[in-house]
Amino acid sequence: MIDTEQLRKDLLQQLDALRARLERLRASKAQPLDKDAEEQALELENAEVEDDIEAVTEAEIDQIERVLARIDGGEYGICVDCGGPIGEQRLQANPLALRCIECEEIWERRQAGL
Ligand SMILES: [Zn+2]
Repeated sequence: MIDTEQLRKDLLQQLDALRARLERLRASKAQPLDKDAEEQALELENAEVEDDIEAVTEAEIDQIERVLARIDGGEYGICVDCGGPIGEQRLQANPLALRCIECEEIWERRQAGL
């Protein structure tokens, strides 16, 4: 059995860390650019990397929030697409899985546009 109570605590901790990271990213972006042209180019490059990190962090927060909502709703471990069990082995390998392995493959293929 998956200990959802423990998982919930872990996820809430992760969520805090991710939100703190997001805040730091946004704070550093809000700083005005340096006057020096070379420095400016460097900062713009950094800003692009920061945008990527920000997008990934936001996606992680979204996923954790979805999983937490499913734990609270008693739906943890149930595939969001087919409503079947995700499987304990898969959940242990990936506690944030929202789909069973079959649906995940279909979903990934769809995401890839195939
Ligand atoms: Zn499924």
